[in-house]
Amino acid sequence: MTSRDGFQWTSETGLVQGVPSIGVISPPSNIAGVGPWDIIVVGSGYAGLTATRDLCLAGHKVLLVEARDRIGGRSWSSNIGDYPFEMGGTWVHWGQPHVWREISRYQMREELEASFDFSRGVNHFQLRTNEGESIMNHDEEDTLLAAALGKFVDVDGSMGRKIIPYAHDAFHVPEARQYDTKSAADRLKEIATSLTPNERTALESFVLLCSCGTLETTSFFEFLHWWALCGYSYQGCMDALISYKFKGGQSSFAIKFFKEALATGNLSYSFNSPVQSISDQGGNVTLTTRDGNQYTGSRLVSTIPLNVLNTVSFNPPLDFQRASAANTGHVNQCVKVHAEISNKDMRSWTGISYPFNKLTYAIGDGTTPAGNTHIVCFGGFHNHIQPEENINATKEAVQSMAPGNMDVKRLVFHNWSKDEFAKGAWFFSPPNLLSTSLDALRSRHGNVLFANSDWAVGWRSFIDGAIEEGTRAAFTVTEELRGSSKSRSRL
Ligand code: FAD
Repeated sequence: MTSRDGFQWTSETGLVQGVPSIGVISPPSNIAGVGPWDIIVVGSGYAGLTATRDLCLAGHKVLLVEARDRIGGRSWSSNIGDYPFEMGGTWVHWGQPHVWREISRYQMREELEASFDFSRGVNHFQLRTNEGESIMNHDEEDTLLAAALGKFVDVDGSMGRKIIPYAHDAFHVPEARQYDTKSAADRLKEIATSLTPNERTALESFVLLCSCGTLETTSFFEFLHWWALCGYSYQGCMDALISYKFKGGQSSFAIKFFKEALATGNLSYSFNSPVQSISDQGGNVTLTTRDGNQYTGSRLVSTIPLNVLNTVSFNPPLDFQRASAANTGHVNQCVKVHAEISNKDMRSWTGISYPFNKLTYAIGDGTTPAGNTHIVCFGGFHNHIQPEENINATKEAVQSMAPGNMDVKRLVFHNWSKDEFAKGAWFFSPPNLLSTSLDALRSRHGNVLFANSDWAVGWRSFIDGAIEEGTRAAFTVTEELRGSSKSRSRL
């Protein structure tokens, strides 16, 4: 099946909107009858899929309502020519507890593969800056980035361990809050004289790879939080953030949740159904879709992401803190572009081209069935591009990562910035958002519970955080509907 989402370009086809995915659900609805349902879940990303599955397994009648034609939300893959291109969330790691539990549960441990393969080919790191170019081996790449990052995060003489000793309780030490008032740019000013020019370039591009905002809009605290999650080391970051992916693509994982929920017989669903409003009448919650359908349940789990929460009308209105956090939003406007290139030797290539280029960081990520190298490239808001608006400029940005070595055969991407149901990529906080609003984002609103990776406490911004949140919502609702606990004011 082909999703409306995503784009593909080849010289033969030109730019085509919509790419195939096993995550497309057909027929788009199985609703029989008018309900009411025990629980309505809005959104079928990993938070919504986890909540839906767990609630169905607990015996509740669940209605899943999704705006798109597919499951997966910000994590989905497109199989093109029998090769999976990851359009959003990709890499997972056994150090991520919630996602790893699911990978084990679905017996998919052996379905992971490594992105990096330095066994053959050019086997180098290419650093391109405004001043010139350096070619390094991968050990030198690691040494450069580890040294630069070490200077950046070492706020306490312990590489951040004293400030964030518990990564899943990041404000445990009260002093941690002061780092949320700082941006990455503020922190860079403090350490500027200690950095070599190459360290500065590598550091800025790595931080921007994480936030995909600007240095000014990147919360230094949130970077420290990522660092703590990754075990306070550059190697830990590489392992957890960009190393292990599903051989079959993310949609091969997401579909397991959906099918398990469906097999219970408790799941009704409606895709292609953007929600317009949610009204909590005290006894139950009524949802109205843009095309006027109304559905009622005793609880509703909203997994609508932060950057689009204010596009849905709530009655009673959302509290001030949550609404203003939604208006502020997160800053990640990642541009992720896959390029299939003819040079086989580039499989072992990695590169940074910054700040002049529209794409900043890229790696060899696989070999396609045609024997071409698959390169995955990342850019961000600091030098933004809308790929489908200018394919030539996008190709030039890919080529500029390694001039002479990027003969582009195919481009594949999803423009998350223009996606009306995400308005951005993974959550990355601007300064002062988390320290003021995390608790409000996590709180419930009467019979409406909010679950999304954007306000997870652990691997916030990651698939793991989405599963953490879906689990939390389903557990809370199940407890309540069993009458085994009082309604909680805060999940
Ligand atoms: P979402 O996936 O956003 O799900 C929310 C759902 O709600 C969506 O399906 C959306 O369509 C639906 N929705 C929104 N509005 C409405 C409405 N009005 N009516 C009905 N439905 C609505 N994470 C990793 O762990 N590893 C990675 O390598 C990684 N890389 C990433 C790369 C990119 C480019 C992106 C975009 C994300 C990446 N992430 C990564 C992050 C990860 O994808 C997300 O954190 C996670 O998928 C979020 O899941 P979620 O269920 O919380 O939210």
